[in-house]
Amino acid sequence: MDKRIYTISALVFTCLCASAAQTIEADVAVIGGGSAGFGAAWSAAHVGAKVVLIEKEGSLGGNSTLGGVNNWEPGIGGTGVCYRIYREMRKIPNAIGIYEHSRHCSWPKPWEKYRFPGGFQAINPCLIYAHSLRRYGPATEAFTRKYRHGVVFEPEVMSQVMLRMLKETGKCKVLLNNAFVKAVHSDGVVSEVILADGTRVKAKVFIDATDGVLCQQLGCELMMGREPKSAFNEPGAPKEHDKRLNGATLLYRIAPIGHKEKDLVEPLPEGVPAKCWWRGGFPVAFMCCYPNGDRNVNMLPAMKGEEVIALGYQRAYAECKRRVYAHWHNLQKNYDEFRRFKLKLIFPCLGIRETQRIKGEYVLKQQDLIQGMYKQKHTDMIAIADHPMDSHGGGGPGGEMKQPYGIPYRCLLPLKTKNVMIAGRAASFSNIAASSCRLSRTMMQLGEAAGVASAISVADGSELRKVDAAVIRQTMQQMIDLCPAPVFND
Ligand SMILES: Cc1cc2nc3c(=O)[nH]c(=O)nc-3n(C[C@H](O)[C@H](O)[C@H](O)COP(=O)(O)OP(=O)(O)OC[C@H]3O[C@@H](n4cnc5c(N)ncnc54)[C@H](O)[C@@H]3O)c2cc1C
Repeated sequence: MDKRIYTISALVFTCLCASAAQTIEADVAVIGGGSAGFGAAWSAAHVGAKVVLIEKEGSLGGNSTLGGVNNWEPGIGGTGVCYRIYREMRKIPNAIGIYEHSRHCSWPKPWEKYRFPGGFQAINPCLIYAHSLRRYGPATEAFTRKYRHGVVFEPEVMSQVMLRMLKETGKCKVLLNNAFVKAVHSDGVVSEVILADGTRVKAKVFIDATDGVLCQQLGCELMMGREPKSAFNEPGAPKEHDKRLNGATLLYRIAPIGHKEKDLVEPLPEGVPAKCWWRGGFPVAFMCCYPNGDRNVNMLPAMKGEEVIALGYQRAYAECKRRVYAHWHNLQKNYDEFRRFKLKLIFPCLGIRETQRIKGEYVLKQQDLIQGMYKQKHTDMIAIADHPMDSHGGGGPGGEMKQPYGIPYRCLLPLKTKNVMIAGRAASFSNIAASSCRLSRTMMQLGEAAGVASAISVADGSELRKVDAAVIRQTMQQMIDLCPAPVFND
């Protein structure tokens, strides 16, 4: 009897899937709707291509929204589509602001009761977007306070703005809650991809803006962990290859309690110890003030990257959630200002800084970062970055940049593929280079360049590898020109 019911249900399920399944044809299919995927879909559509964006979650933004990383750290190069998002969000009350560095555990002040357990970034309404466009320079307190400002935003509003901007192009179909599952391909050419609900998407160019799930299926060369010195001769590389990865963090949000409410230490859920059981002591946390006065808490980090891989996503998320409760309890117990806040949200996605990377026509290396863009010889640079190398316990070198460096177009072209690009944090970077260039706005820039290149390739029938980087840059420049440059009241 049970078996019969099972068989009937399976039949009904198959019929439902078959009826839901459809075939969509586009010029460009983008897989993954995080920062890079959004940038790619928006720019390809903007340049005139017919685009499909496929995202497995129910909203756009990936790590920046569902992972709660609502902080565009100071960084050069955030001028293109990022600035457009900023301008759109500025029209919405309490959606976005520019912050400055406020308190920091490395800069204790005599009037502070205790050393702040991390860093705090506060919105300064006198700052404008252009102030957020510089990071490189000395690692001093004075320099940081004067020059390093970033952007903080409401994650849900950003997801909605991204969706609206894509719809406004009139050329982009967004498929949410639908994951890429399988690629149909031969000789490095992908003809279509099949999604979780059976939908087939045919396109001329495919952009992988996930952590390389499409490229992995195509048999592309994967890079994971720390490459040995023998791989790229990087000065900061270890002698032997190892599996260390940049740390992962589950972010959480706290909200002020009412003026009339009493100070509060929220009880720990059952089974969560009041001590830090995963390292010597509780990690410091970077906290950013939301435009509405809430605070975002980013503990640095919550779990080793390699531990996430060993546990698997679900178990890693569950364990990080316990660590969040313990971290929050520790803040309230030992730092009394936090007793005026309560835990409002633990973000639904774990913030994963690094998994696999895909080897492309060029691998960005530590040498590129050291040389900087004035000494790099590449003629195909399509993005610039200036964030320090930072592996959050992953064992890599650190240090602020002396000047910005460029990222070549070839980093977006996976070896042995013809109509596929890789944009986002799984692009062709060494582990050390990735620890610097993985920031959200840089990923959006890479996506933007990939989108422009794919639209050019579709329009004139040229191979992706033959698209002239100078034309990509020029097109990106024209897109900026259509949007006024940062101005002094903005
Ligand atoms: C904890 C943490 C803190 C950080 N702090 C900062 C910071 O302060 N400032 C800063 O600028 N950067 C920060 N970063 C870095 C930055 O947030 C990320 O590197 C960046 O957001 C990555 O963007 P992405 O588009 O490459 O990837 P993601 O944002 O991860 O997007 C990938 C998308 O692909 C989708 N996807 C995956 N598989 C599939 C599939 N099979 N089918 C369809 N869709 C799929 C995912 O759901 C996701 O939406 C931080 C990162 C972490 C983890």
